[in-house]
Amino acid sequence: MGIMNLFGLLKKKAENEEITCKKCERTAKRSEFYKTDMVCPDCGTYLRMGAKERISLVVDEGEFTEHFSDLKSENILGFPEYDDKLEKSKKASGLEEGVVCGVGKIGGNDCAIFVMDSNFMMGSMGSVVGEKITRLFELATEEGLPVVGFTTSGGARMQEGIISLMQMA
Ligand SMILES: [Zn+2]
Repeated sequence: MGIMNLFGLLKKKAENEEITCKKCERTAKRSEFYKTDMVCPDCGTYLRMGAKERISLVVDEGEFTEHFSDLKSENILGFPEYDDKLEKSKKASGLEEGVVCGVGKIGGNDCAIFVMDSNFMMGSMGSVVGEKITRLFELATEEGLPVVGFTTSGGARMQEGIISLMQMA
């Protein structure tokens, strides 16, 4: 199954879910909010969007190939409860990590794309998130592509301590 088909299925599944605007409390199905790209039509508040939703709304249909999805976080420091948090985040976001990287087209233009997901440990940056974004920039440099990135990150991932801070460089 191609990744866009997978996103299509996920989108369909979530379409009927009711969500509420945190500011004005307008409640409607997700599919209603898709019509205004997840901006509340009543008060203009931006609603939380997952990485896959964002890709399916922004990237041309059928034009996204994910890269580096084989990289997975490990509890390298033996940080208490990190393994549990990783598992919960995977379930909540439907992702293996806090960022999705790939190559695709936006408005017919080829580009490298990374999209963070705040449903995955607040989109925090551990060693794998840093590595995936670095590899994407290396690929984009080799292929002469612009990089379009959506950063929805809460910062460095404290469960990886200094390792996550080193990703900043
Ligand atoms: Zn609202």
